[in-house]
Amino acid sequence: MKIHKKTGSFLLACSIALLTGCGGDGTSTSLAETATTANMISDTSTITPIIAAQPLTVSETETLLFVREEEKLARDVYLTLFNKWGTKTFQNIALNSEQQHMDVMGTMVATYNLQDPVLDNTIGAFTDPVLLGLYQDLVMRGSTSLNDGLHVGGFIEEFDINDLQEAIDEANAGSKPADIIAAYTNLMCGSRNHLRAFVGQIEKNGVDYQAQVISQATVDAIVNSPEEQCGQ
Ligand code: ZN
Ligand code: ZN
Repeated sequence: MKIHKKTGSFLLACSIALLTGCGGDGTSTSLAETATTANMISDTSTITPIIAAQPLTVSETETLLFVREEEKLARDVYLTLFNKWGTKTFQNIALNSEQQHMDVMGTMVATYNLQDPVLDNTIGAFTDPVLLGLYQDLVMRGSTSLNDGLHVGGFIEEFDINDLQEAIDEANAGSKPADIIAAYTNLMCGSRNHLRAFVGQIEKNGVDYQAQVISQATVDAIVNSPEEQCGQ
């Protein structure tokens, strides 16, 4: 509503300027022209934030909504696997981090006035059928053994890191929304820490971790570097 009103008055000021500008001889400035110019300057300054917060492309919007539910996938799978195995790593990551990641993306969904795909906060409820299928597959796979459960953790974090990098690249090449890029960057930082935690547990149990989504070199670089302090 606000945006339409401001854009409307800006357009009106522009058309007045065009009309008065057509009749001018270029040597004198009428009072009307001066007033219109002043209006234009003030209106231009008020619409600057609107231009900065330009709408996202269809693809950027789909990505944002997908990431919102993808964070729910992580939370829900980890809570389910915690119930199965009682391993605190699942619970800690789900409650202290994935819930936050979901909330950050929920804020972005609201900021850009989008329909939230999280219609039901219940564990295992998803709007996107791909994520619903992944939830079911990953829970089944992770319920075979604790080692499989921890590997599901590794899979989800690699999957997130891959998708978030693509999301950041897409945003940088497109609308460049600073708030969304910052959110993705923060989520990816968290995912690197979670991957370190899962791989650390797996290797503590004497199993060598093999990369599942991203390259082995990228996984090695992450797990061989220290835990990071991620931003807000
Ligand atoms: Zn996350
Ligand atoms: Zn994570």
